[in-house]
Amino acid sequence: MAERPDAPAPPMEFDLPVHGGFAPVGFGETFPEDAPDADELEIAGEAGQDPAAAFRRTLGMFATGVTVVTTRSDDQVHGMTANAFMSVSLRPPLVVISVDRRAKMHALLHEGRRYGISVLADEQRALSDRFAGRTGEGTDEVEFDIVHETPLVRGALAHLVARVVRSNWGGDHSLFVGQVEYARYGEGRPLLFQGGRYQHLLERAPVFSSLPQEILDAITAQGDERTFEEGEFVVREGDPGDDLFVILDGEARVERKGNALATFRAGEFFGELAVFDDRPRSADVVAATPLRVLAISRDLIREALIREPRAAWGMLEALAARFRDD
Ligand code: FAD
Repeated sequence: MAERPDAPAPPMEFDLPVHGGFAPVGFGETFPEDAPDADELEIAGEAGQDPAAAFRRTLGMFATGVTVVTTRSDDQVHGMTANAFMSVSLRPPLVVISVDRRAKMHALLHEGRRYGISVLADEQRALSDRFAGRTGEGTDEVEFDIVHETPLVRGALAHLVARVVRSNWGGDHSLFVGQVEYARYGEGRPLLFQGGRYQHLLERAPVFSSLPQEILDAITAQGDERTFEEGEFVVREGDPGDDLFVILDGEARVERKGNALATFRAGEFFGELAVFDDRPRSADVVAATPLRVLAISRDLIREALIREPRAAWGMLEALAARFRDD
């Protein structure tokens, strides 16, 4: 490839050969010398908008999860929030992260060094802020588990440990391709990032359970009690969504194609959306333990709302709250 005379030279460290069991072929052969300079890049932003800001905002439209990248150096644990994480290959198992060259993390990563990826859960926003340097040192102690000599943030939705097999210069960031040595996933909702702010998946945002207790009591009063053995299906994907359920005792697991999506416990409702929109169930619900539920039919809910207009208003408030992201 012809090198442009004005192309910035990649730092030496990125020309290192890959030693050991695995050497990706071809990676690192292309550098972005062929990319246009910033002033050659056509950006269709608003009139008068700073092109760099418009470019950033364009990239920010891509929704991602949020991870904390961790590594250990001289027994010191260092972590950094990163959303530029991507899977690369299943065989061999490879992932990549993109790290700002000014970040402390950048100086710590090199070929052979392991990094941990902790995929943050929805309720771990404070950790994301913490590892992005947005909160002070006075915040709570962070707990790590050590796997393959690599720190991982406790309580995260998924964990990976990868060993850097190739690093590639990418302008003001560098790409660190890691061969995965360890992977684990749990269940729960992920923290999301899009448009420069945190976002949420709405699928488990409650409607019924946010109603005042006396209204809930009026709706559930005529429910029909049902029991299930452990492992028994409560609803199946594709079934008509005629009933709303509230758990009295035990736990129910939501599954799609055999993958666990969430677990509901005593006092929690499930089946809310289908009972409103009259569409088929979008997932299976299986009794994770012996289970006792109250099933409330759509007709009973409708009657309760007609009898008690405050309940209808409360439900509108609960729905409106779903669209708030604070
Ligand atoms: P520092 O800025 O020194 O450390 C980061 C913070 O982590 C500090 O507050 C530090 O106190 C805390 N910390 C570090 N280790 C520990 C520990 N052991 N225990 C407790 N606290 C600790 N930058 C990228 O390069 N790539 C990305 O993909 C990326 N994505 C981001 C996504 C989001 C949603 C956000 C908010 C930021 C992102 N950033 C990304 C920016 C990056 O997180 C910050 O610039 C970060 O401050 C860089 O960290 P650093 O390695 O320079 O270390």
